[in-house]
Amino acid sequence: MIDFELPPMLKMVKDMAHSAARDAFRPISRKYDDLEHTMPEEIRPLGAMMAQSMGGGPPKKKDKDKDKAEKKPKVATEDVVGATMTAVVGAEEMAWGDCGLMLALPGQGLGNAAISAVSTPEQYERFGTKYASMAITEPGSGSDSGSISTTAALDGDEWVLNGEKIFVTDGERCEVVVVWATVDKSAGKAGIKSFVVEKDRPGITVTKLEHKLGIRASDTASIVFEDCRIPKDNILGSPEIKTKTEGFKGVMKTFDNTRPMVAAIATGCARAALEFTKETLEKEGYVFRYGLSKHNLNAVEKELLMMEAELEAMRLLTYRAAWMGDNARPNSLEASISKAKCGRMGSKITQRCVALLGPIGYSREMLVEKWMRDCKINDIYEGTQQIQQLVVARNILGFSSKELK
Ligand SMILES: Cc1cc2nc3c(=O)[nH]c(=O)nc-3n(C[C@H](O)[C@H](O)[C@H](O)COP(=O)(O)OP(=O)(O)OC[C@H]3O[C@@H](n4cnc5c(N)ncnc54)[C@H](O)[C@@H]3O)c2cc1C
Repeated sequence: MIDFELPPMLKMVKDMAHSAARDAFRPISRKYDDLEHTMPEEIRPLGAMMAQSMGGGPPKKKDKDKDKAEKKPKVATEDVVGATMTAVVGAEEMAWGDCGLMLALPGQGLGNAAISAVSTPEQYERFGTKYASMAITEPGSGSDSGSISTTAALDGDEWVLNGEKIFVTDGERCEVVVVWATVDKSAGKAGIKSFVVEKDRPGITVTKLEHKLGIRASDTASIVFEDCRIPKDNILGSPEIKTKTEGFKGVMKTFDNTRPMVAAIATGCARAALEFTKETLEKEGYVFRYGLSKHNLNAVEKELLMMEAELEAMRLLTYRAAWMGDNARPNSLEASISKAKCGRMGSKITQRCVALLGPIGYSREMLVEKWMRDCKINDIYEGTQQIQQLVVARNILGFSSKELK
């Protein structure tokens, strides 16, 4: 039987995140949009509290045989509510409050999702609740993350990192950075691994902070690594260089967790704009008539009801990707589908809300213009719209990244 109800544990997470978003985020939304790069100290204790109540943990091992049997009916008792599902339910609510503040919450960032995706239980114990950012992008490497040039060389019991990362969300204020680096350039993508680098290690320097369109409550940093030494066991996953595809797939698993999370953030932000728009128009006397054929709706009703339907689709696609991840099923395709849909629709919905509200929508007196600016990033980082569509096409058509570029 298909059940679309959230189980009690997730309802609790949703309610708790919603209260935090409403009572702790919304009142300071504009303040930290204006005070770009400033750490919102008011929410620091909330991060630890959320991490404790929302749980999390290292990933379950993906089971290929289980995947082959995917088409067989499953009994409900096999379902696991894991870290990814918990994170996406919480992320939608918190992003409904404020995307930028949500990203600034210690222990809830993309780096944490990356650690959850590929850490061992011992590594999760050490790093799981740290304030973690994620550094993949470099001056010469964006969408093609397989082309990164930051290096990690083993020297005795330590890895030595050299290179530059740019556009690292929370890169200045975080405690640890999950860094993608190559252990063997000649091995191509197979040589790329991820490493947890503590910010107090010598050889790590924040060199620049970006001024941005949206998510201004989070900082976005450039970081240089110069002979930065970290312990040997700070490598996430296996240090072994396997076959070309296997090696890179290991590190790409990170995206299977982080893409649904970004999708959920887009959904939360779009929902905030849509709810506000509907409430504002209702106050102006609009009545939204559900149940009529679309030919009998007026233009505003039709647009608003369609956006509500899109929002529901965004959420369901995200839940599917997260559920598959938690239940040890390969979910790269579904993670990219959710990110493509939510990134695109999040931008579209927030833009239409600004337009539907006219001057109020564009005014800085209301938050809807901010939600439009904030939401755009979800269609860019963790892989742009075009890259998600490429991943989806490759998965469905059975092409490799070399065959379909
Ligand atoms: C505010 C902000 C925060 C960020 N946070 C992080 C972070 O925390 N960690 C991190 O590592 N990175 C982060 N990034 C970087 C982000 O992930 C990259 O900007 C993104 O992956 C795109 O890379 P690029 O900017 O180099 O664009 P490019 O790869 O140069 O792409 C430029 C354009 O070309 C398109 N394009 C590229 N290749 C193809 C193709 N094969 N087919 C069709 N179209 C294509 C892209 O879709 C895009 O529209 C952040 C960026 C921003 C703006």
